[in-house]
Amino acid sequence: MVSFGPDNERFNPLVHPPEGFSGTAIYIAIRKGHVMVHDESGELPTVDPDVPHRSRHFLGLIDDTAVWGLDIGDDHNPTDDWRFVHLRQLYGGIPEHHWVLAGRAEQIATFERTHQFCGQCGSPTESHHRDRARVCPSCRHMAFPRLTPAVIMRVTRGEEILLAHGAQFPGRFFSTLAGFVEPGESLEHAVAREVREEVGIEIGTPRYFGSQPWPFPHSLMIGFTAEYESGEIAIQEEEIVEAGWFTADAMPPSPKGGMSIAGWMIEDWLGQQGVVD
Ligand SMILES: [Zn+2]
Repeated sequence: MVSFGPDNERFNPLVHPPEGFSGTAIYIAIRKGHVMVHDESGELPTVDPDVPHRSRHFLGLIDDTAVWGLDIGDDHNPTDDWRFVHLRQLYGGIPEHHWVLAGRAEQIATFERTHQFCGQCGSPTESHHRDRARVCPSCRHMAFPRLTPAVIMRVTRGEEILLAHGAQFPGRFFSTLAGFVEPGESLEHAVAREVREEVGIEIGTPRYFGSQPWPFPHSLMIGFTAEYESGEIAIQEEEIVEAGWFTADAMPPSPKGGMSIAGWMIEDWLGQQGVVD
């Protein structure tokens, strides 16, 4: 299973640079979900790109390297040496821990941009002096970066896996079921409810698999595995085009490994079924 491993664990999130800091840096310049990289090397800038930006955010340190995020104005065009690549297409093009940080930079930039005014009284907000938050000077209301928890589940029945072709997928493509957690709901309840709603199946107790930050736009994907208990597939037509039980030797087009937890869960299951690359 792929995981965002040791390189990511070296990252120390901070809101301000340590006093007197003078180490190296990388700059994640974001323009509408696209990240600025060097045209030839494909790498992130290591000197301040000195481009017009709406806001600048210190994200933290990787060892002694500072990580900065810049929110670039929509109409800024890079000079010849640089290009903007969408965060999704950037996966595999830069070190994985840089890609994860680019997702973090994108989410923080979006948070800052969309929380300039208090949601309670409408006054202009200010950055909190210590935390990653916006605070209202009038009513003291605080806003934190928005995170939306979503459950994603690998449901199996003996040697079969349940996969669905979601209405939003491009082409004929199958993946695990997923859905957002509702207020007042536990993760386990959300897993059982989503499976019931989307395909009409009842499952046994969900088991935690792993999680993944998913910055499209601000989800936290929480993965579970569960075994089939009862029911016949009956799809919720607004969300699901087709769903079925598949064996490892007859898989439809589906993610495997790569950048999403769905791919990790399917790859992990294929490994259990004795399918090795
Ligand atoms: Zn307020």
